[in-house]
Amino acid sequence: MSTAPPSPEAVENRAKAEALRARLAQRGIRHFIRGQEVDSVSGQTFETCSPVDNRPICPVAAGDAQDIHRAAQAAREAFPAWRDLPARERKRLLHRVADLIQERAEEIALLESLDTGQPIRFMSKAAIRGAANFRFFADRCESARDGLSLPTEQFLNYTVRQPIGPVGAITPWNTPFMLSTWKIAPALAAGCTVVHKPAEWSPVTAALLAEILHQAGIPAGVVNTVHGFGETAGRALTEHPEIRAIAFVGESATGSAILRQGAETLKRVHFELGGKNPAVIFEDADLDRAVDGTVFMIFSLNGERCTSNSRALVHRSLYPAFVERVAERARNIRVGDPLDPTTEVGPLIHPDHVAKVLSYIQIGQQEGATLVVGGQRLQEGALAQGNYVAPAVFADAANHMRIAQEEIFGPVLTVIPFDDEEEALALANGVKYGLAAYVWTQDVARAHRFCQRLEVGMVWVNSHNVRHLPTPFGGMKASGIGRDGGDYSFDFYMETQNIAIALGPHPIPRLGT
Ligand code: NAD
Repeated sequence: MSTAPPSPEAVENRAKAEALRARLAQRGIRHFIRGQEVDSVSGQTFETCSPVDNRPICPVAAGDAQDIHRAAQAAREAFPAWRDLPARERKRLLHRVADLIQERAEEIALLESLDTGQPIRFMSKAAIRGAANFRFFADRCESARDGLSLPTEQFLNYTVRQPIGPVGAITPWNTPFMLSTWKIAPALAAGCTVVHKPAEWSPVTAALLAEILHQAGIPAGVVNTVHGFGETAGRALTEHPEIRAIAFVGESATGSAILRQGAETLKRVHFELGGKNPAVIFEDADLDRAVDGTVFMIFSLNGERCTSNSRALVHRSLYPAFVERVAERARNIRVGDPLDPTTEVGPLIHPDHVAKVLSYIQIGQQEGATLVVGGQRLQEGALAQGNYVAPAVFADAANHMRIAQEEIFGPVLTVIPFDDEEEALALANGVKYGLAAYVWTQDVARAHRFCQRLEVGMVWVNSHNVRHLPTPFGGMKASGIGRDGGDYSFDFYMETQNIAIALGPHPIPRLGT
């Protein structure tokens, strides 16, 4: 970690972010319903704070069932015209959204860092990825309705896809802008209208996205943003009868709650939930690259990353060297102001989350694991005001420990040894989650054999997480329901309809003659 004086770029970013903050403090954040910024019906607000200093950024409208109802009505009324808009025109509008995101990428990245504590080096890329999400799905607007032809002698059956209707999108706080675009872009491309409920700990860039969508010419009511808490606004969205489906990204326990809440109105759900993803490092791995990949996939995005490899399963022959090398890296990671481009780990989202992460540091030690490095709150100088935790590595851990089973969602790596492939597989699969895995080996046959027995939705072999948007993204077991990406997104946002056309006067059974 470093407490060196800030770089000139950091000073410049801080000045720009503070100017944006001052503007937000004056304006506040309101809902965006039917093309207009509006206050909550109740008049209630809450404050969003920066994890850098825990000072308020601005007041935010606190929505409840009344605001969700207004937004759902707007989405329902806007639906027929949006559904029937020529796909070419939807494509043009979504590309326009992407253009505007690119134009405002710096502002988005600065505000995201300020609101979430995520380092600017990653948020600059996340803003651009938001634009890429819109471009990718813009280019699919014209094929979204495509189907199959399933002919028989007597019938031509063909399928077409129809947008399901107004949908709800509920997003978390870890990379809120990128994740919001990941849900909203395919929904719009499919012809759905949207009510978005962003996370209460990071509402700023969701409000900016609503502004951009409006500026791009997305018609009023097509996307509506209602801010507020999960138990009130979120819950009301999942229970609203006009909302046909819920696309949710967040904790597994919240996913269960949403299933219960949506049962009465038979909601279709798409869930991207938690993970306890393994990096499996075999004895023949390229150790340098395995260390690079594993360190990146636990400490990037502050460890607040669903696909982080929070467990490293390491062949016993490499175990001491691996532990030593990742610990050395963790010790050297630059923790600090997220607006500084040299910062690698920023402050965690909220003091409550710091308390959760620190509690796991204690739990791990009580369980008998060795805390090799980090895990303490950092309070030197300016860090004292923020939510800074030193990147931590636990060694001598076992898979039954809570630090190996539960999602900590912070910069904490648990390293566990194994002796052979069967044991590695049992450890990898021995958690309730099943989102992603990273496998490090030079043995091609083993890579194929092992990956196909992993109970996870996504595997990277000899690589960190590199996304290719047409590929399916999602988890097995407690990590999710459904897949996003490419055509998979349309499976969720659209209904498949079969139309059977008789090709001639085939016999029809005659009753009542
Ligand atoms: P969370 O479940 O606490 O909150 C997510 C969203 O759900 C928020 O907008 C919240 O207000 C809302 N919510 C809470 N209770 C609700 C309820 N009863 N009804 C409706 N909405 C409700 O999650 P979080 O702490 O914001 O995010 C971290 C979690 O997200 C981690 O578990 C992480 O793994 C997961 N995540 C998963 C992916 C993925 O792709 N699988 C991506 C990012 C984050």
